[in-house]
Amino acid sequence: MKTQSKPFVAVVGGACAGSEAAYQLAQRGIYVAVFDQQTLPYGKIEDGLPKWHIKLRNKEEAKIDSKISHPNVFFVPQTKLGRDISFEELVNDWGFSAVLLASGAWRDRPLPVEGVDEYVEKGLYYQNPFVEWFNHHHEPEYKGRDYHVEENAIVVGGGLASIDVVKILMLETTVNALEKRGINADVLTLEHQGIPRFLEKHGLTPEELGVKPCTLFYRRRNIDMPLSTIPADATPERAEKAKMVRVKILKNAQEKFLFNFMERCKPIDKIVENGRLVGLVFQRTEIVDGRVKSLPGTEFEVRSPLTISSIGSIPEPIPGIPTKGELFVISDENTGKLDDFEHVFALGNAVTGRGNIRESELHSRKVVEYVMNEFLKWPSEEEGPAISGRALPAEQIEALKNRVKEMQARVGYDGDYQKWAAQHRPVRLEELVNFSK
Ligand SMILES: Cc1cc2nc3c(=O)[nH]c(=O)nc-3n(C[C@H](O)[C@H](O)[C@H](O)COP(=O)(O)OP(=O)(O)OC[C@H]3O[C@@H](n4cnc5c(N)ncnc54)[C@H](O)[C@@H]3O)c2cc1C
Repeated sequence: MKTQSKPFVAVVGGACAGSEAAYQLAQRGIYVAVFDQQTLPYGKIEDGLPKWHIKLRNKEEAKIDSKISHPNVFFVPQTKLGRDISFEELVNDWGFSAVLLASGAWRDRPLPVEGVDEYVEKGLYYQNPFVEWFNHHHEPEYKGRDYHVEENAIVVGGGLASIDVVKILMLETTVNALEKRGINADVLTLEHQGIPRFLEKHGLTPEELGVKPCTLFYRRRNIDMPLSTIPADATPERAEKAKMVRVKILKNAQEKFLFNFMERCKPIDKIVENGRLVGLVFQRTEIVDGRVKSLPGTEFEVRSPLTISSIGSIPEPIPGIPTKGELFVISDENTGKLDDFEHVFALGNAVTGRGNIRESELHSRKVVEYVMNEFLKWPSEEEGPAISGRALPAEQIEALKNRVKEMQARVGYDGDYQKWAAQHRPVRLEELVNFSK
């Protein structure tokens, strides 16, 4: 069949936001190349969302699979922007009609304690690689980082992800302690039942098992934890209710997973011994007009063999993409357009900064609507004949397809997405331990 003139768009990152954008474009008859650094384009669904969310993970990954399988989408796995293709090359040399960045937020916000990053993996872990380890270390072929959990750990955080981190620590340390007593346990069953109930079934109390709990340190109060959202226009009663929900969520998690919580404490210094981080110095705070105020003279030391920082994720810097502070420089969150580039747009977690699947998808849809309607001016079939200054001539489309094919061949991908996904899907813990709810 003769190749038609049409736009051809590059999407970087094929997870919730990227696959949604690719699908919307593909449905409009536009060609899309989706580049992802990983073998499978599942992003934080695979490496962030903890592995006990079996149903949610499977549902979201099936959605991504079906979107990436659209015949107008050309998937390019194991290809990282900034490593395998430079940003300048993709934007200036390839000749795509538009470039969409859906690369998420993979870098941990640095723990604000001077010099502490020297101790990464020497007493200090960051949340993103730690959760990735948790999700995958059971796999028989696992070749990632070799992380070790410790009892009595310090977790610095406060958001939903930090609750997952303390849960992971409590689950893993409890499984280890049970193993020493000859009791076989797995984190899925333990998470489902809660630690006290599981122990009770084995005739044990938490005190008898004797796992030293980890502690979550938060610089604000329990009522400030963003565990449930308070809309900007909430009445005082509604806001009060939401704060009570936050307290309840935290209390339930503590009851089920037995971790400690310390509010109004911020880390200000490190404790180092023999080249390892062995604790932090905290300072008490108070909240005045919504702001965190430090209270000098209230400093105290907490010693621990392991500190995990879980204070938020930001986009990884990609050489060539201007950033302001932690974020890409974009003019308007609704269009996602990068300030310095006419045809580059960012979407999803990379822009919203909020770790939420639905928000990533909705933001992606908003940006891609703008790109299709206002930027590419490429109407749907019902809206009439497609005429756009952004459509590429047939020869350029063929050249792009060939270049994409070369990139695919480079990593041994033959273009059959479903086959590739089936071959590379990781071994699941529930298959190994025979877990079912
Ligand atoms: C611990 C934890 C728990 C969570 N729990 C929940 C929950 O219960 N409910 C919920 O709604 N949300 C939850 N989230 C958040 C949710 O997983 C994310 O918000 C969502 O998956 C983000 O989707 P995204 O497509 O915007 O970004 P990502 O999932 O980060 O996808 C980005 C994609 O881009 C690729 N990529 C990145 N950089 C490059 C590059 N340079 N070149 C090529 N490819 C690149 C990545 O491989 C990835 O596939 C959780 C997150 C974490 C960390």
